[in-house]
Amino acid sequence: MTTSRAVWSARATWLLLAVVLTAAVLVQAVPAWRAPAVLVVPAASVLLIGVGVALHRPRGAAWWLVALMLAAWGAGACLGRFHPAPGVASGLLWAGQAVAAGIVLHVVRGRTGGRDPSPGGRLDLVVIAAVLTLVGAQLVAVVLADHDDVAGVLVASLDVALLGLLLRFAVSRRALPVSSWLLLTASLLTVLYDLTCALSGGRLAPPGHPVQSLGLVSLALFAVAALHPSMTAAFTAETFARRRSPSAALLGLLPLVTVPAALWWVAQARDVPGLPGWTVPVTGTLVAGLCLLRAAAALRASEHLAEHDPLTDLANRRGLARVHAERAAQEPCALLLLDLDDFKQVNDAHGHDVGDALLLQVSERLLAATGPDELVARLGGDEFVVLAAAARAGDVAERVLEQLRDPVVVGGLVLRTGGSVGAALPDAGPPGPLAEQLTRADVAMYAAKTSGGDRVATYHPAMREEVARRYALSTQVRRLLAGRAPDVGHLEVHHQPLVDLASGRVVGAEALVRWRHPEHGLLPPDAFLALVSTNDLDAQLDDVVLHEVVHQLARWRDQGRLELPVAVNLTRRSLEDPALAGRVLSLLADAGVPASQLHLEITEHQQVSEDGPAAASLAGLRAAGVEIHLDDYGTGYTSLGYLRRFPVQVLKLDRSVVSAVTGDGAQLVAGVQAMAAALDLQVVAEGVETPAQRARLVELGVRFGQGYLFSRPLPAREYAERVLGPARAHGPAAVGADPAPGFAPVR
Ligand code: C2E
Ligand code: CA
Ligand code: CA
Repeated sequence: MTTSRAVWSARATWLLLAVVLTAAVLVQAVPAWRAPAVLVVPAASVLLIGVGVALHRPRGAAWWLVALMLAAWGAGACLGRFHPAPGVASGLLWAGQAVAAGIVLHVVRGRTGGRDPSPGGRLDLVVIAAVLTLVGAQLVAVVLADHDDVAGVLVASLDVALLGLLLRFAVSRRALPVSSWLLLTASLLTVLYDLTCALSGGRLAPPGHPVQSLGLVSLALFAVAALHPSMTAAFTAETFARRRSPSAALLGLLPLVTVPAALWWVAQARDVPGLPGWTVPVTGTLVAGLCLLRAAAALRASEHLAEHDPLTDLANRRGLARVHAERAAQEPCALLLLDLDDFKQVNDAHGHDVGDALLLQVSERLLAATGPDELVARLGGDEFVVLAAAARAGDVAERVLEQLRDPVVVGGLVLRTGGSVGAALPDAGPPGPLAEQLTRADVAMYAAKTSGGDRVATYHPAMREEVARRYALSTQVRRLLAGRAPDVGHLEVHHQPLVDLASGRVVGAEALVRWRHPEHGLLPPDAFLALVSTNDLDAQLDDVVLHEVVHQLARWRDQGRLELPVAVNLTRRSLEDPALAGRVLSLLADAGVPASQLHLEITEHQQVSEDGPAAASLAGLRAAGVEIHLDDYGTGYTSLGYLRRFPVQVLKLDRSVVSAVTGDGAQLVAGVQAMAAALDLQVVAEGVETPAQRARLVELGVRFGQGYLFSRPLPAREYAERVLGPARAHGPAAVGADPAPGFAPVR
C-alpha cells in the first residue's frame, strides 16, 4: 500500500514537472496569463507542499519552512506587482530570504558525523572562509560607498556567493535523492532570477520579461520536490553527510574560485565602487593557490586509497604488487598467505560489524608480529599476506601464528582466531611474477588448513596434485548430498558404543558418519567434513544422518531388539534453522520412535549466534524428551554461558582431557565432575583408550565413557548384532528383561 502510494507520487511528480514547464512557456506566450500567474503559482506551490507533507510525513520542520519562504516570496511578488507600496513588498521578499537562511542553518545544525578532519577537508574550509571574507569585505565596501543602488549590489553579491556554495554542494555530494536535486535546481533558478533582477535594478522581473517565467518555474519546482516520495530524505543528516571521493570534493571548490571575479563584475556592472581593483587578483590567486594545495592533497589521498585497504589501511593487492616488485629486485622474498580458520563462522554468527572489528585487531597483531622490513597486506575477506625476506620468513610465520593464538575480544565476545599460513619461497634465479607466487602460497595455505589449521605449510609442487584431488572431492561432495549420484558412493552411519564405565554395560551409542567412496574406500569424517562445510552443506549432511539414525532405530524396534538411545552430532548450521525442532520431532513421530531414544550433540567449537533460534529449538526438543549433550567439553573456551543458554544434560569430556586423566588432567576432570554434579548434569568421557584411564575416571566419579578400549565405531549391522542382541520375531523388546535400561540418570 505504501509502495503503490510512492509509485503514484513519483509519477505525479514528473507529470507536475511537465505541467509546470508547459505553463511557463504559455505564460510567456499569452500576455493575459502573466498577471494571474504571479498570484496563482506561489499559492498553488504552498498548497502542494502541504499536500506533499501530508502524504509523506517527513520528520522535522524544514518543509514547513520552505512553504513559509514561498508564501513570503509570493506575497511580496503580488504586492510588488499590484500594490503601490513597494516598501512592504520588499520587506516580504527580505522575510522570505531570512526564512531561506533559516532553512540553511536548520540543515547545517542538524548535520551529524562531524567534519572531515583530513588535511584536504581543512583546506576546503580555508577556501570557503577566504571567499566568504571577500564577500563580507565587498558588502562593507559597497555600503560605505553610499551609492543609490546599494541594495541591488548587496543582493547581487550575496547571490553570487550563494550560487558558488550551491554548486559546490551539488558536485561534492554522493547519490542525492531526486527531491534534493529538484530543490537544488529550484534554489539555483531562484538565485539566478534574483541576480538577474538585481543587476537590472529591481527585486522583481518586469512583467513579460522572460526572467519572470524563471521565477515562477523556480517556485513551482519547490512544490514538485515536495511531492516526490524521496522528500523525506531531502533534509536528513545522512543526505548531507554523504561525500564523494577526494577528487570530487576538489571539483566542488571550483565554483568558489570564480566568486571573486564575479563579485568584481557585479560591482562594475552596476557602476558601484566596491573593493579596490587589486583585491580581485590577490584573492583570486590566494584561492587558486589553496585549490592547488587541495588538489595535491586529493591526489595523495586517491593514490593512498588505490593502494590500501579501506578497512585496515594495510596495503591492498596493488600496494603489495608495487612493493613486491621493488623488494624482489633487491633480495629473495617470500610470501606468507594467512587465512583465519573460523572467520566465516564469526561473520555468520555475530554479524559483519563484529567481523570487521576482528579483522582490525588481526591486522594490528600482524603489524606487531612483523617489523619495518616486512609488508603486511590484506587481499580481501580474511586473507592477509606478509611479504618478508626469504631468510626471515620462517621466523615471521611462527610469530604470526603465535600472535593469533590468543583469542580476540570484541564487545565482550571471546573469538578464536587461529590461522593457517601458506608460505611460498622464491625460486632460484630472477624473481617470478607476484601472481604465480601468490597461487603457490594459496595452495600451501589450503594444505595447512586441510591438515587441521593453526600451522604453517611451505609450498612444494606435489601440493598441487593434492589440491586438485581435494577439488575433485569437493565436487563429489556436492553431488553426494544432492542425492541420487551412485557413482560417488554413499554415506554410512557407524555406531560407537557408550558404556557404563564401572560395569562395562552398553547404554547407548554415538552415530558417526563415513563416506563409502568408490576410489578412496571408507573415508572418515575428517576427510570430507571441511569440504561439506565450505560448500555450505552441513545442514544437509546432518539431515541425512538424522534420517538414517531414526529409521535405523525404527527398524531395530520392529525387529524387537534392545532399545538403546543413539546420539547424533549437529552442526551450527542445523542449530540456526528455526524449523529444526519441528523437523526432528515429526521425523521421530513418523517413524514411531520415542524422543528419549534420540540424543543430540552440539559443540562449542562452532560459535552459535546468541539471538538465533538455537536456544528455542533445543528447548522445544528437550521438552519433547530429546537429550542435549555438549560435545568436546574442556577444549577451548568453554563458557558457562553455553550451559545457561542451552538445555544441556550431558557434558562430553574431550579426548584431550581424558588422555591426561592419569596425569595432571585429573584435577580438571575432578573439577568438571563436581560442577556437573552441582548442576545435575551427567559426564561422559570420550576417547577412553586404556584400562588405567578407565579406572581413574571411575575413581573421579565419571560414570559413562566411550572409546577404543570398549569398541571402535561399528557398522550398524555389526553394532546391532554385538550390542542389541538378536532380532526377535515380533513386537518390541520386553522391557525389564533387558540388562541395559538406557541412559539412566544418576541417583
Ligand atoms: P566427535 O563428535 O568428537 O566424535 C568422536 C571422534 O573420536 C570419532 O571420530 C571417534 O571415532 C573418535 N574416537 C572415539 N573413541 C576414540 C578413542 O578411543 N581414541 C581416538 N583416538 N579416537 C576415538 P570420527 O568418527 O572420525 O569423527 C570425527 C568428528 O567428525 C566427530 O568428532 C564429529 O565432530 C564429526 N562427525 C562425525 N560424524 C558426524 C555426523 O554424523 N554429523 C556431524 N555433524 N559431525 C560428525
Ligand atoms: Ca560427538
Ligand atoms: Ca567429541
